[in-house]
Amino acid sequence: MMTDSFELGPIRPPSEAYSLLIRATKNCPWNRCKFCHIYKGQRFELRPVEEVKQDILAAKAIQDGLKEMAQKSDYGGSLEAVVMAVLQNPPSQSYFNIALWLSHGGTGAFLQDANTLIMPTPDLVEIIKFLKQTLPSITQVTSYARSKTAARKKPAELKALHEAGLSRLHIGLESGYDPLLEYMDKGVTAAEHIKGGRNIVESGISLCEYVVLGLGGKKMWREHATETAKVLNQIDPAFIRVRTLTVKQGMPLYEEVQNGTFVRASDEEIVEEEKLLIENLDCHAYFVSDHITNLLQEIEGRLPDDKAKMLAAISRFQSLSPGERHNFRVGRRVGIYNELADMANSQMHELAERAIEKLSDDGKKVSDETIYFLMERFI
Ligand code: SF4
Repeated sequence: MMTDSFELGPIRPPSEAYSLLIRATKNCPWNRCKFCHIYKGQRFELRPVEEVKQDILAAKAIQDGLKEMAQKSDYGGSLEAVVMAVLQNPPSQSYFNIALWLSHGGTGAFLQDANTLIMPTPDLVEIIKFLKQTLPSITQVTSYARSKTAARKKPAELKALHEAGLSRLHIGLESGYDPLLEYMDKGVTAAEHIKGGRNIVESGISLCEYVVLGLGGKKMWREHATETAKVLNQIDPAFIRVRTLTVKQGMPLYEEVQNGTFVRASDEEIVEEEKLLIENLDCHAYFVSDHITNLLQEIEGRLPDDKAKMLAAISRFQSLSPGERHNFRVGRRVGIYNELADMANSQMHELAERAIEKLSDDGKKVSDETIYFLMERFI
């Protein structure tokens, strides 16, 4: 029976904000990483192909209903006006997702949850083909995958997925340093990251690898940066995206931070780590820092050509006086600044100074704990 709602999982990458979300599997089959709380307490499930197809049909029904509404009602044939009205007052999350997707052309689809690649390949091929036949405006189909699963897939299977229409896979590489991967219980080695990544690149599917800045804490930051760069250089993905470690209740890492086993790096130390990572990168990826948790979101560019430009942004931050660096950190974490250049705006600068007075005990220095807390509000 067709309904006008479909299942939605909890997350998607920032770059898939305007994609149609189709939940092909539920939760995470690994679910043990210490720094991740998203699916803890939830059991992994492969959804039956027929059930996923029903969700695709439900998405189509909502889309068709909105198009019909644009023709028949007071909206003067404007789908854009209908979409805006739904976004302002969505009857459900499914409608909201469809409206958001249509507002950006209805071209992208993201298959949830954490490791869609674990599905039997023929099932995943069938879902992707059905999705593209049912909603022909979709030109880009993407999903999350684990390196370990990609390392086990046969090249012919990945090629079949690419031919069916799978355009890009997003992988949480997190780190390329084996002792850190083991400590964080990532369930994958640097060698498996390389094999999985290379399998994907060679199949023609575009690959985006995610790195967690700060994952090594105060103890392993240096090796985290240099070994991660080595692994990325061997994979040579299309994109490298960074996000910064957040530690929240529900993550196993939270307890280790509380009892002092894991000591977090400060923003300034993480910037030094990022510098070392970029200096050691020797590949052709497009490097992006578009995650709200990153201190310096402006670090972006095509490697290797833009490396100097990216390192210059780091150097601009590092050459500020200690007081100005603190002003930027606090201003960025309370949402005043988007980038370093915003500090030239005297009103913004003054607002950041006011925030420091309000959030610190002595009126001058906000503690690292408070700054972490401010960053983690966004997650
Ligand atoms: S594999 Fe990904 S989703 Fe699963 S526990 Fe690890 S970080 Fe979380």
